[in-house]
Amino acid sequence: MTTLKGIPAAPGVAMGKALPFDSEELLVPRRTITEEQIPAEVLRLEEALIKTRHQIVSIQKKVSDELGQEHAEILNAHLLVLEDQSLREEIITGLRKQLLNVEAIFNDIIKHHLKVFSRTEDEYLRERTADIDDVRKRVLRNLLGQHPDALSQLRQESVVLVARDLSPSETAQMHKGHVLAFVTDIGGRTSHTAIMAKSLEIPAVVGVEVATRRIPKGVFVIVDGTHGQIIIEPDEATIKRYELEQRRGQELNRQLLHVKDLPAETLDHHTVVLSANIELPDEVPSVIAHGANGIGLFRTEFLYLNRSDFPTEEEQYQAYSTVAEQLKPHPVIIRTMDLGGDKFFSPLQLPSEMNPFMGWRAIRFSLARPDIFRLQLRAILRASVHGNLKMMYPMISGSEELRRANEILQEVKHELARERVPFDDQIEVGAMIEVPSAAVTCDLLAHEVDFFSIGTNDLIQYALAVDRVNEKIAYLYEPTHPAILRLVKQIIDVGHAADIWVGMCGEMAGEPPLSLLLLGMGLDEFSTSPVQLPIVKQVIRSVEHSFAKSVVEQALKLRTGKEVESFLIASLKQVAPALVE
Ligand code: PEP
Ligand code: MG
Repeated sequence: MTTLKGIPAAPGVAMGKALPFDSEELLVPRRTITEEQIPAEVLRLEEALIKTRHQIVSIQKKVSDELGQEHAEILNAHLLVLEDQSLREEIITGLRKQLLNVEAIFNDIIKHHLKVFSRTEDEYLRERTADIDDVRKRVLRNLLGQHPDALSQLRQESVVLVARDLSPSETAQMHKGHVLAFVTDIGGRTSHTAIMAKSLEIPAVVGVEVATRRIPKGVFVIVDGTHGQIIIEPDEATIKRYELEQRRGQELNRQLLHVKDLPAETLDHHTVVLSANIELPDEVPSVIAHGANGIGLFRTEFLYLNRSDFPTEEEQYQAYSTVAEQLKPHPVIIRTMDLGGDKFFSPLQLPSEMNPFMGWRAIRFSLARPDIFRLQLRAILRASVHGNLKMMYPMISGSEELRRANEILQEVKHELARERVPFDDQIEVGAMIEVPSAAVTCDLLAHEVDFFSIGTNDLIQYALAVDRVNEKIAYLYEPTHPAILRLVKQIIDVGHAADIWVGMCGEMAGEPPLSLLLLGMGLDEFSTSPVQLPIVKQVIRSVEHSFAKSVVEQALKLRTGKEVESFLIASLKQVAPALVE
């Protein structure tokens, strides 16, 4: 029995057999062939190249229709590789000389070229390595008969997935019935992969560093997503202990669900709004089951992932109006797309960036591509007549961006009015406060919006200079850092002084000791993963608002994140011992 430690990403306990999953590197078989088999191998290669060509041309056509010819041309480099006659000849020579299967020969040759290209001084050639590697994987998948979206095809017995990394889009494809839990070598607590796991209610531990090296295929493991532990080949006593823990967890959840229909109100009748975060419309039943007062963050960029074309205006309109109707009369806050960072839309073929979280992301992308942005705004406005819709922009860094976004919104409103398409002209518009420059100057932004929603997942990473997906520095990612306490308090105070309401949709809002602090700071709306809602509500219902305010006063005097954390846990223990482990 061995225990590995990682970062708790999604709560719960699961046990089962481990299945290594490698989305990055394909396992390429090597087998010897006879000379007679060479023509058949060449034919397999030709077929795989043709298939890959068709796939790329069809992506190219969609990109061209949606974005214009110049964007589709990015994929020309892929096609050139596929059409390269000298590469074909090299592979055929390799087959004759080495008498190995074609996937092995193809892989060896391309990898050799990649190595040479990556060392060259020529910048153009160096930049082509990503294109060539993409073609390598596509051709290999076609040769191996693998579906490009392997995770959605996972239909065998339930397993615990073990991967070096999983992208948010891969996680979004998981089926709860087939994936009991997952474990990754890299990643952080507020990565979108972790957030997605919480939404799917799949226990997960990330940032284990050695998981793929230490957990072999088929071995029995326990994944404790609450405490960030993996037990490999546990003994009987440990299995029993965790089974008990599983039952206890289920029982606590059942008990907590009793508060589902009760108001989020303190003992002295201070009320707050408790909303849920979602990535996809399918999550609405879970939102309702956990007793949310609405949706505080709809991460619409997930509509763009796992597909090879753009969601149309109509498709987006259907998604937003369905969610609005299901939640009516409760509000639903649609966040305009936040592509970039750790969420990539493959047909866009965005150039790789050194610092994607600080790069071409969110509102920056939307303002640079008003054609795509307008389509989304039209869909949101059209859907606004079907319920209580609000909208907000991600990653606003200052007034200029906010004004530009609002100007485009106005133009789209005029356009719809001219077309006599109904929409809610009074739709509330908010800014996410998740960039330190916006937090510090939020007094300048408050007059341009109806509300603020604090995005602490990003605010913490930018303010503390701690990459939210890097396990090596995860110990520095502290929501309780005095800098974060001051920033959050300032945003709430400034918002209130300007007469607007202030919510929070970062994961910080869903952690019980922190909810106590935020309640004391006067946060108006808490938006978190549906599974966290009952426990946050229980915290709120267990305390007097005046007690929470005194906790804030004390916490602000402390000097380190650790001191604040211990103080908040002790304070919560005082009023709701059952909610503290
Ligand atoms: C945040 O940054 O806190 C947030 C809610 O947005 P996301 O996690 O999608 O970046
Ligand atoms: Mg964010």
